Amino acid sequence: MYPPEFKVLVPSSLEEALKLLKEHGDNAKILAGGHSLIPMMRLRLVKPEVVIYLGKVPGLRYIRENGSTIKIGAMTTHGEIESSSLLAEKNPLLQETASKIGDLQVRNMGTIGGSIAHADPAADYPAALTALEATVVLKSLDGEREVKVDEFIQGPYFTDARPDELLVEVRVPSLSGRFGTAYEKLYFRATDFAIVGVAAYVEVDGGAFSRVRVGLTGVGDKPVRARQVEEELVGREASEASIEKAADLASEGLEPPSDVRASSEYRKKMAEVLTKRALTRALSKAKGG
Ligand SMILES: Cc1cc2nc3c(=O)[nH]c(=O)nc-3n(C[C@H](O)[C@H](O)[C@H](O)COP(=O)(O)OP(=O)(O)OC[C@H]3O[C@@H](n4cnc5c(N)ncnc54)[C@H](O)[C@@H]3O)c2cc1C
Repeated sequence: MYPPEFKVLVPSSLEEALKLLKEHGDNAKILAGGHSLIPMMRLRLVKPEVVIYLGKVPGLRYIRENGSTIKIGAMTTHGEIESSSLLAEKNPLLQETASKIGDLQVRNMGTIGGSIAHADPAADYPAALTALEATVVLKSLDGEREVKVDEFIQGPYFTDARPDELLVEVRVPSLSGRFGTAYEKLYFRATDFAIVGVAAYVEVDGGAFSRVRVGLTGVGDKPVRARQVEEELVGREASEASIEKAADLASEGLEPPSDVRASSEYRKKMAEVLTKRALTRALSKAKGG
């Protein structure tokens, strides 16, 4: 199906993009990589009168370290995140997550800003960004604000962004010390969205877990932290036996949807299984494996 007629505007600066957003408000949609917006428009699920293409706006495509933070421009593609040597060393969780998104074409066009702003409940980044306690920076003509990703994503395809705000940057920690990370994804078919995805980030001090973060996608309206698993593990012996006991808590309080790809019960079970796998792999890396 073709979308209804719409106008394309191509700003050449951030200032111009923000002015256009202010002017057109709810009638406008930002076009980044187009890998979610264009299908939604073709299905007529969204019908913007104006599409504002971000591809000619300079300064939105970068990955740079600033103290203990890594800043990523909204227009950075999944492919650039996957192949970043800075992320490979200082935040391999985001890098691994990007490498499991779609196929090469999707990773070459799709952007991290577009993925977060789209807020698909089965998208991969939100699990990792939740586990990393990442933030996003939103900009408008009135100023700038920084919001935690798990507060920014409020429900399926629904975020905290105002119509005049642009997501300009994603901030993740630069990890150091004895840490390990892993992203485990259950696919329906290769290159599909996650049925369930689990991101784990652990730090080990002496023989015990000193920090544990677990983020899940595909198990509800929005990404969630498995806080019971985290609390159970911190201070415990850093071992597979501890993980074995704690991972079952990953499904507590979850009410995943049932759909053509999986039942709610199956998703709950897989949340436990993938939590165990992700934590085990993260622990092995933290121990230098
Ligand atoms: C075949 C296929 C397979 C895929 N597989 C996966 C997968 O396995 N895992 C996964 O997570 N995703 C998957 N995706 C989605 C893909 O990652 C998209 O690239 C991503 O969801 C959207 O990024 P985009 O840059 O294409 O955004 P667009 O499609 O351009 O925009 C998406 C939405 O975000 C808004 N937006 C975009 N940028 C901004 C911004 N900077 N500020 C404010 N709003 C903005 C747009 O207005 C629109 O509403 C797949 C897509 C396809 C087509």
